[in-house]
Amino acid sequence: MQMRILLIEDEPLLGEAVATHLKRAHAVDWLQSFEDGAEAMRTVSYDLLLLDLNLPDGDGIDLVRQVRTSSQQLPVIVITARDQVRHRVEGLNAGADDYVVKPFDLEELSARIQAVQRRAIAMPAPRQTIGSLSVDLTTRKVWRGDEEVLLTAREWALIECLVHRVGTIVPKSRLEEVLYAFGAEIESNAVEVYVSRLRKKLGSDAIRTLRGLGYRMDR
Ligand code: CA
Repeated sequence: MQMRILLIEDEPLLGEAVATHLKRAHAVDWLQSFEDGAEAMRTVSYDLLLLDLNLPDGDGIDLVRQVRTSSQQLPVIVITARDQVRHRVEGLNAGADDYVVKPFDLEELSARIQAVQRRAIAMPAPRQTIGSLSVDLTTRKVWRGDEEVLLTAREWALIECLVHRVGTIVPKSRLEEVLYAFGAEIESNAVEVYVSRLRKKLGSDAIRTLRGLGYRMDR
């Protein structure tokens, strides 16, 4: 699954190498300071946070704590230096899912990301109640009341993206990326078209439009 990853790393060479490597499979935003990273997390919905703890303007551990005290289920991998065992333990105690120690192998990083991703996907209750809908993320089925609703692969992909972030605004650009992942060219109004189809199937209030911001599903 293609993810949107936020990388916060202030060392230019390492950040560049990691960003370039991950961009082969994912959408990556690379930022180099605590403040820029915190700001990006307020405005963008990410699937994974890859975080250097030792930042010029703050301690990455505080960002890990922020993520864990918010309602988001955002997986976090921390990047630490070899001589900072204490920092690493603090990171895990603060709620990070895993860590890598500098210098690390990029293939190893990919493997860690996949492992964290698998655990994150396995975590949510398989069947979720969202408004009048039930959604089973494992079997990819949706019910409206007692009746199962049949969705196309693209419709399901959009619903899955929204359900994973229920209660938070998903930008239109993120949903476009989901549609792009199917490989075909998409029209500029494709998201609107699919959301409108989904509302016909799932109920007009199933997906909220927040003008200029994106879309949201609420419990
Ligand atoms: Ca650093």
